Amino acid sequence: MTNVSAIEQSCTTMEGRSLRKQLFAQVKEQVGVLNKQGINPELHVVLAGDDASSLIYVNAKMRAAKKVGIQSVLHHLPSDVTQQKLEDLLCRLADNPNAHGILLQLPLPKGIKKNAALACIPLHKDVDGLTVGSMGALVAKRKKILKPCTPLGIMRLLKAYEVPIKGQTAVVLGRSQLVGRPVAEMLSQANATVISCHRFTPNITTFTRQADILIVATGSPSLVTGDMLKAGATVVDVGITRLDNGDVVGDCDAASCRKVASLLTPVPGGVGPMTVATLMTNTIDACCIQHNLTPPFRAL
Ligand code: NAD
Repeated sequence: MTNVSAIEQSCTTMEGRSLRKQLFAQVKEQVGVLNKQGINPELHVVLAGDDASSLIYVNAKMRAAKKVGIQSVLHHLPSDVTQQKLEDLLCRLADNPNAHGILLQLPLPKGIKKNAALACIPLHKDVDGLTVGSMGALVAKRKKILKPCTPLGIMRLLKAYEVPIKGQTAVVLGRSQLVGRPVAEMLSQANATVISCHRFTPNITTFTRQADILIVATGSPSLVTGDMLKAGATVVDVGITRLDNGDVVGDCDAASCRKVASLLTPVPGGVGPMTVATLMTNTIDACCIQHNLTPPFRAL
């Protein structure tokens, strides 16, 4: 067994922000190409209610769209919106040829059935990649589908930092529909051996110490410490928690992890920017699919 304490690893920070900048530039270029053909990519964001975090996320997405030249439209519905009204709007957008991407911001107000609402979004407009159809298409390895933003953003980060995946052991902490489950699927499709852990997994250290690649998406601040890592591991910290003092922290204790890992994402500035950047690339891909053009960002 490797004596991790005897090894002074030099740890590289995986900069999501600089990769986002590159992706934004590429998206902007693609928008220009589409505009020349008379096509204006449009992203429609549907928000129901006034959840404070949702408002922040939606504003960030709209700002990003503006930056890259994608038209964005916000449909802000009251928190007492009925299921019928919400579904009517989503169905109208599904039928609107100018609405290339539809994003339903979660969580939804109490009483609204999430899956029924998401089901109104057709696969080729599901820029968040979160509908049951998109999930099924991902597992079935269907081509020309839109993959969920955070997991695809993570795969892009791994690729940008030339992290080998094939034949490696990848451990994913967390199995949510949003992050853990789809990223485990993507890593498996990239030929990693994947171990999925969750809140009922006893002694997670047994598993994390096997990880060449560790993806942590639990929402539990400082869950992962350096002594839980294999020397030289690549660690992707997806967690975002705002502490009472206002600090934003991830699921990993960065100071101790940096002493053992060879690559680590910062929080903030790691996975978060990749999620927004991938929403933009998905919107371009959705627009191209709808115009029978080759989606430029689909291939990793
Ligand atoms: P979730 O609450 O839906 O799922 C959490 C998962 O972690 C569950 O599967 C649970 O079983 C597992 N878990 C919880 N505690 C654990 C423990 N001690 N050991 C092992 N597994 C444990 O959360 P989510 O939506 O997947 O989000 C996870 C975190 O990622 C949150 O902090 C969220 O804010 C963040 N997030 C960040 C981005 C981004 O763009 N950076 C995107 C989505 C989510």
